Amino acid sequence: SLVLVTGASGFVAVHVVKTLLDAGFPVRGTVRTAAKGEYLQNLFKDSPVPFAYIVVANIETASRCPGAFDAAVMDVVGVAHTASPFHWHADDPSELIGPAVHGTLGLLNSIQRINPQVKRVVVTSSCAAIINDNVTKPHCFTEADWNTTSVHECETLGRNASATAKYRASKTLAEKALWQFIEVEQPHWDGVTINPSMVWGPLLQQAATIKDINESTVIIHEWFTGNKPQSDIPSVAPFNGVDVRDVALAHLRALIVPEAGSERFILSNAPASPNDFVLAFEHYWPERTTYPRGDASKVETINAGSNYYDHTKSERVLGIQYTSFDESIKDATASLIARYGI
Ligand code: NDP
Repeated sequence: SLVLVTGASGFVAVHVVKTLLDAGFPVRGTVRTAAKGEYLQNLFKDSPVPFAYIVVANIETASRCPGAFDAAVMDVVGVAHTASPFHWHADDPSELIGPAVHGTLGLLNSIQRINPQVKRVVVTSSCAAIINDNVTKPHCFTEADWNTTSVHECETLGRNASATAKYRASKTLAEKALWQFIEVEQPHWDGVTINPSMVWGPLLQQAATIKDINESTVIIHEWFTGNKPQSDIPSVAPFNGVDVRDVALAHLRALIVPEAGSERFILSNAPASPNDFVLAFEHYWPERTTYPRGDASKVETINAGSNYYDHTKSERVLGIQYTSFDESIKDATASLIARYGI
């Protein structure tokens, strides 16, 4: 029952690994450096079943160096592919699209050549592959929706495309690469995608300094420490968010629930605005004066104007029961305080 988790050092992935180990599935994780692997080995040293790591230095080269994932996929029965760059500072869109697409294809090619025992491949996609900005708010997105604008923006504007479009294009093209591979190759395994909105929750990954934290946690840090102005509170468009532990459980269920095969799953709890962040801070850390003040009377009005995601399929097929927004923000913030003394 060995499962491969790619990008095991990431924010989401460490929770995926933990959830799998706790459920009794031994895990092999790919990491970029041995140091990241050693950190994980130590983190999971008391797990009920073993964790081992293997170094795959750069997933982008995987489709040009066809053997890059061969040793990683050996003897596994399931794969969770989470490795993909997530940040807003790419210059050329190819910096994100390259690893996202070639990493996915390189992995799938290795499985195809080396391992006939694999039954299922779960790919961490994103609501970035679903969302379109050209809708009238409040719009409800479902798994039938595809992002149709970001790839075009990157093709026409190149380096001048927005940071959002660069990231969204990488996730859209990587997910399309999966479904197209399945259609063309008709492999012996079936595919599933998990499409989360912004993921928040406690940090388990190695991140020596605050500069090393993952991109979705940066937002919480910025609001908590007062890097964002009071004037942004009522006006900034809400996000949609989900707890990292719910996303991890969805990966586990996607690997083992037969009916999940060949499906996409939105993982998203509800819209959340900066007003919600600061109200959660006020609730749990009322003595702090660093963050702007929220307005509880505006919560519903602000969020009612937001686009949102239909998550009923994840409840029905994967059995997800969503963790509350306040719980996610409390645990994420507590991690930041404990680790970095902010
Ligand atoms: P992290 O940055 O924490 O994790 C990204 C992982 O991918 C890391 O393990 C990273 O390795 C690895 N990686 C990135 N680029 C490369 C590369 N070129 N070669 C090899 N490995 C690489 O972010 P998250 O945990 O948030 O993201 C994990 C997945 O979840 C991604 O696919 C992301 O798109 C998706 N996702 C995340 C959301 C969020 O809000 N966090 C929302 C929706 C989807 P290293 O640790 O060495 O940097």
